[in-house]
Amino acid sequence: MGLLSFARPRARDGCLLYVADRGLAHVFVTMRGYAAITFGHVIVSAREPSDALWLHERRHVEQYDRIGLAFLPLYLWFLLRRGYRAHPLERDASGAARLFD
Ligand SMILES: [Zn+2]
Repeated sequence: MGLLSFARPRARDGCLLYVADRGLAHVFVTMRGYAAITFGHVIVSAREPSDALWLHERRHVEQYDRIGLAFLPLYLWFLLRRGYRAHPLERDASGAARLFD
């Protein structure tokens, strides 16, 4: 996904960050209104992430570390069942309701 942005990745806080301000990755991230998307320790952001966005995506990285490969199916299942705003992984990432320390 990051490679589809035509952006060079850079290391930040143990992650690879792609700022995808163009290309297919940018379209993929923004077409559903997202600012960024995280796959394991790879974060693809449609723009240079703000501190708040970076903390949010870093929390998704922690979720990946805890949940492992189950992250994606769980994420999609909750997204279909509850939508974005009531999504437990999004609420955890936003700090509204932590799932774990
Ligand atoms: Zn999120």
